[in-house]
Amino acid sequence: MSIAVLHEAAYGRAIRRLAVKHRLVEEIERKKRSIGAGIAGEERVLKYLGTLGIKWPVLWDVNLEISPGHYVQIDVLVMLPAYAIIYEAKNIAGRLRFEPNPAGLYKYDEQGQLKARYDCPVLQLQDEIANLRIWLYQKNIPYSVDGAVVMTGSGIIEKPPAQGKLFSLRELRNDILGRTGGGGRTIEELWELADRIAKENTPFIPFPVFPRLGIDDREVYWGPVCEAGTCKGRLNRKSRRNWTCNQCGWKTADPYTKTLEDWFLLRSRTITNAQVRELFGISSASASRLLAAYNLKKGGKGRATYYYWDYTEPLMRVKKAVLA
Ligand SMILES: [Zn+2]
Repeated sequence: MSIAVLHEAAYGRAIRRLAVKHRLVEEIERKKRSIGAGIAGEERVLKYLGTLGIKWPVLWDVNLEISPGHYVQIDVLVMLPAYAIIYEAKNIAGRLRFEPNPAGLYKYDEQGQLKARYDCPVLQLQDEIANLRIWLYQKNIPYSVDGAVVMTGSGIIEKPPAQGKLFSLRELRNDILGRTGGGGRTIEELWELADRIAKENTPFIPFPVFPRLGIDDREVYWGPVCEAGTCKGRLNRKSRRNWTCNQCGWKTADPYTKTLEDWFLLRSRTITNAQVRELFGISSASASRLLAAYNLKKGGKGRATYYYWDYTEPLMRVKKAVLA
């Protein structure tokens, strides 16, 4: 599962958990849209590359550690015999101008009003190229790196950047087919190198998101919540298999997965038996059975035992749990 997709989903869950008028709701909605646009942009580039029938390896969502805690994050990496190309996808609509001071991409509406300012994608790409070169050098891999920004949205560029390669999705064909990239590796050697990069790939985990946003645990209700429309009601346990919304009457037999998922996406990477007991108002034995039923990993010992989700597979029950 893509971490980016889960990250977008986490912001959606954050909005469900926070009060309608919470100070950060707008910012979270903006972040959610931005991630969604990023995912869509990257998918467009990959899909387009797929139609070209190129024989070279194409990697995506590449995250390589340059130094402890410092990563290079690459959307799309095409591996040619003599060098790699980074395609940085930007999925932005509107009238766009690249301005030098401070360097950024400015978006205007029809009336010429400034709507948004983004970090300059050309500078971002230059950083990615420099960092990938550092990584290859550290690993003793002789391989060059080039790159381009690919605009995948409906944006109209009124003022292009002063330097750097930037073009629209439909120009990608000429760019890549024009690069014969003579010399260098054979196709087998390229696939070996692609495998090595894939093995060293360490996805960046942006969870839990609330501490990053400066949202305190105590600002949020963490128990089971209503999943009907935009209702923000809380669920009360009426009987063993009946949880009912206190606002709209929506019912579910199983609020557990969503509630645990929200905990791991928003609040903490770990959970204890005591926290599960409190979340659902269940006994210690039931909490143990519930935790054991999920594809969670376990750490610590005795009273200090905790459980965590590694975020690489969907959180799900792998066994049946009978809750008293
Ligand atoms: Zn409800």
